[in-house]
Amino acid sequence: MWTDMYTLPETNPLRRGTDRIRKFRRYHRSPLYQVADALRHIDMETLETINPFTLAPWDERVQTDVGVQHEAQTEAGGYMQVAVSSSARNELVGSGVAIEKRPPRNRKLKHKALSTTLAARVEQNPFSAELAAMAHVLNTVTGLKGYTITLLTRNKAAVLTLRNPRQQSGQEFVCRIYKLIKRLQRNGNHVQFRWISTSEDNKLLGLAKEQARAATQEDALLQERAPRMKSTTLNLARSQAAPRDTLPAGVGKHAKRVDAALPGKHTRLLYDRLSWKEATVLAQLRTGMARLNGYLYRINAADTDQCACGQAKETVEHFLFRCRKWTTHRTDMLQHTDTHRGNLSFYLGGKSPSDNEKWAPHLDAVRASIRSAIATGRLEAT
Ligand SMILES: [Zn+2]
Repeated sequence: MWTDMYTLPETNPLRRGTDRIRKFRRYHRSPLYQVADALRHIDMETLETINPFTLAPWDERVQTDVGVQHEAQTEAGGYMQVAVSSSARNELVGSGVAIEKRPPRNRKLKHKALSTTLAARVEQNPFSAELAAMAHVLNTVTGLKGYTITLLTRNKAAVLTLRNPRQQSGQEFVCRIYKLIKRLQRNGNHVQFRWISTSEDNKLLGLAKEQARAATQEDALLQERAPRMKSTTLNLARSQAAPRDTLPAGVGKHAKRVDAALPGKHTRLLYDRLSWKEATVLAQLRTGMARLNGYLYRINAADTDQCACGQAKETVEHFLFRCRKWTTHRTDMLQHTDTHRGNLSFYLGGKSPSDNEKWAPHLDAVRASIRSAIATGRLEAT
């Protein structure tokens, strides 16, 4: 979602909101702040922009040819074949192009090849490199007139994207390609794309591949400045974001004391089979945010933190195990153990620091605690 927001056009209010989310605030922080913080080492401002639509519905789509092969037309006009290839290695992404050109009324073929080191691998991918190379080549041939231009590639995704562009990564290159095609068409050129499978030999594509590999040699220098691809940025961020297996410091002091295994899958086991009422009671006892004076006083909802029995602060432990007012409600709870009496973790389905790896919540004991807590009526709104 964070990367999606950054790829929105500048006119979108959400896109402008990203500045404010990043601002440092100690309290009332947006949940997105954590996401922003996790991705702070990535320069999101250089991320590509992705519009809802690449083309208007009535814009003509390019002619692509996936699979079937037929010989290039030998018409009166000139003809040009452009093979495009990409390479990703040595943490670089580059592209190579090989051009075969036959001007009109001319039997001699002209050849040309070029290679471009596009970007670091963390910003671009082979797919975007192919599209960038196509846009680059088309830009250099806009002076042509009356040519049939065929672009060859082994990247099927690139060809399919050109045929049916969507709201997707690499869109800027696709837009550029379409604009250039329009210009070429005005000069009487015909542009088409052809995908060629790896099983099919193609000399021109072989040359392009050589050029692409030259672009990603170890000492290659970046030549172009291209927008960072969303898909690549997202994949990278995903692989780096190791899931945190602890609660942040200063969060859930009571909950951590109750359950050393937090967060964990066992909490679903605890809650899933409970009724709504039982679940609210268990949540109060496990988090400590309960309708007990100990907590109510903390949030200025009660005048004192003392229990009505007058003996102590009304904490979850006092309420569950010690308060004299509720002695009769504890008989059921006490039947579930001899060794864990007064153990908050045991009665609330948490892991004690002394428990070993084979620990599992004792569901019967948890249910007994919930039943007795409900029986007191103390945790319900009055
Ligand atoms: Zn009490």
